Amino acid sequence: MSIGKVIVMATGGTIAMRYDPVRKGVFPAVTGQELVEAVPPLAQVCPVEVHEFCNIPSTHMSPEIMLKLSQKVDEVLKNTEVLGVVVTHGTDTIEETAYLLNLSLKTTKPVCLVGAMRNSSDISPDGPKNILCAVKTAACPQAVGKGVFIVMNEEIHSAVEATKTHAANPNTFKSPFWGPLGYVDEDRVIFRRELINKQKIITDHLVEDVYLIKLTTGTDDFLIQALVDKKVKGIVIEGMGRGNIPPKVVPGIRRARAEGIPVVLVTRTLGGRVLKGYGYEGAAKPLSEMGVILGGEISGQKARIKLMLALSQTNDNLKLTKYFDD
Ligand code: ASP
Repeated sequence: MSIGKVIVMATGGTIAMRYDPVRKGVFPAVTGQELVEAVPPLAQVCPVEVHEFCNIPSTHMSPEIMLKLSQKVDEVLKNTEVLGVVVTHGTDTIEETAYLLNLSLKTTKPVCLVGAMRNSSDISPDGPKNILCAVKTAACPQAVGKGVFIVMNEEIHSAVEATKTHAANPNTFKSPFWGPLGYVDEDRVIFRRELINKQKIITDHLVEDVYLIKLTTGTDDFLIQALVDKKVKGIVIEGMGRGNIPPKVVPGIRRARAEGIPVVLVTRTLGGRVLKGYGYEGAAKPLSEMGVILGGEISGQKARIKLMLALSQTNDNLKLTKYFDD
């Protein structure tokens, strides 16, 4: 038994949903308190206190709500009796919230995001076991200083690397190429590796008007021109391979840059970095010479979150580039 308590902050998601026979669909229905009460073995881990933050499907989450959540998590963790926080969350966007928290939290205490693929009225819901594993991790001294985690299916993933890979299977969260940081066994929490990147963007606001466009063969710049017309604050492009895009997209990007809109380029592949290697039209080298920021290894959805936070600090393209160099 650990000394100190863990806060469970409920935000919603399938973990807090149930089938409604009248409306014939799955809807938010379960409070954070009820979620915790459904896991009696928590009593053997540590005292748990529940905070009801919201109860929404994670597609109703927004970066603004995520930042408020981050501030709330930092606030409760100031209490020396609190060992760590578990955030219950829908799995559809959990990786975006986890990544935003990972960048913006001041605390070094463990923060675990957890969800479920099966709702509480399903046969063998995965929520209770996932919550138990997340609370064990949040209470674990070895988890301090390792960043924000997604704890699902007994595995501990880094918020920086984890992504949802299957629409329905409980074994959906993967950290492609690297694997989980560790796992939660019956008797203990086991870490096998540590994340090296400890980047932070501490801010009290973010710039929401940032869009992500995923590119495919034969695409033109129609969507990018529309974003430039809208005078958006930033654009993230998910290109192919090392950061190559169809040539017909280039004029839109050139115009975005000429109008001072930051453009970040990432790859739609599951791993690896965009890199200035290829020099042909639409490749990363000429794009970067145009002032396009190469986004490193992160996914489009995470690059968008990072750009929103980074834009709260600077509009300078060189300074923005440094955030993505890390
Ligand atoms: N649609 C749900 C959500 O993200 C999916 C889940 O929680 O697994 O809110």
